Amino acid sequence: MTAFRTLDDADLAGKRALVRVDLNVPMDNGAVSDTTRIDRILPTIREISDKGAKVILLAHFGRPKGRDDKNSLKQVVPALAHALGRPVTFVEDCIGEDVAKAVSAAKDGDVLLLENTRFHAGDEKNDPDFVKALATNGDLYVNDAFSAAHRAHASTEGLAHALPAYAGRTMQAELEALSAGLDNPARPVMAIVGGAKVSTKLDLLGNLVKKVDVLVIGGGMANTFLAARGLDVGKSLCEHDLTGTAREIEEKAKAAGCQIMLPVDAMAAREFKAHAEHRIVPVGEVAADEMILDAGPRSVEEVVARLGTVKTLVWNGPFGAFELPPFDKATVTVAKAAAKRVQDGALVAVAGGGDTVSAMNHAGVAEQLTYVSTAGGAFLEWMEGKPLPGVEALRKG
Ligand code: AMP
Repeated sequence: MTAFRTLDDADLAGKRALVRVDLNVPMDNGAVSDTTRIDRILPTIREISDKGAKVILLAHFGRPKGRDDKNSLKQVVPALAHALGRPVTFVEDCIGEDVAKAVSAAKDGDVLLLENTRFHAGDEKNDPDFVKALATNGDLYVNDAFSAAHRAHASTEGLAHALPAYAGRTMQAELEALSAGLDNPARPVMAIVGGAKVSTKLDLLGNLVKKVDVLVIGGGMANTFLAARGLDVGKSLCEHDLTGTAREIEEKAKAAGCQIMLPVDAMAAREFKAHAEHRIVPVGEVAADEMILDAGPRSVEEVVARLGTVKTLVWNGPFGAFELPPFDKATVTVAKAAAKRVQDGALVAVAGGGDTVSAMNHAGVAEQLTYVSTAGGAFLEWMEGKPLPGVEALRKG
């Protein structure tokens, strides 16, 4: 039982369904260069269409300041129609007479794509008049765009209050995975937080120490924690002005009964480049002209061993500069260990956030973890424990 209204609760036959999707796809020379986002929304579109509703797709594209061809959703139509295997009718605005005419001319089950909602300033402003103008063309609203759910915009939040509102299947899968990760997890829970800087993940760390049993800190941000413990990190990426904050996070963790794990050894190099000459050193022995580019083998062993004792893993951020081999080793080894435990049915593992998706793809485990979220900002805000307006609006009762 989910806490959100889903398509199972919706009466669709003969209805006009306004469906908010994520079509913010990368383009190359006028063609869609990665169809991941399109592929993810197909089940929702097909189900609504097959159940006899007119599917009226709403989406934003880019960051337009008013109307411009470069940000028109028209260019996405061929890839969407191809993936769907059905025709898609494009309408050159998302509100107004033309939309009303196109919707009334459509037959039950037809799929329409309306022009970029952000061509109107009212979308991002969540302007009530704009919400009304959108709502007039629908009988119900389905949100399948988790990646935009941290924004309280007209098409992501306002509409959910103007019409009966439901989570699409992709949104539902994301919410169920995230709920199993942090809201209602099997314990013990481990979080791995890596990446470049502590400064971008302060809220996230503050929330996690209250919620998880073990917090593994990796990547460049671990260096700030090591420095806070009085260790010399040489030329490593390190926010020396945040060592006080790192100490505070350690204290909060202690008070909450959350174990913090930091690297005990490192791969240290003098140059920030692939295949740079490097050595493995205990974290206290990094030379003044060296930088830590990845966690060392003992650290990885410790994390993998601890991973074997937990039932849930939530992961954001790589252990090292994973784009530069061999400094991808810790990330890849831990990712493979996590994937194996998921495959054995022993672990729920949810990973997400921009670079984490490429790190998991690089490790070849994206399909083997329980869930990999491609939503950047929304995933991080969820890890920070912030309510997402677009999600809250779909909550039952
Ligand atoms: P983020 O976007 O905060 O998740 O950071 C990801 C980036 O952190 C990646 O591009 C990694 O190359 C980088 N990174 C991870 N560990 C280190 C490190 N020890 N030194 C420098 N950069 C790192």
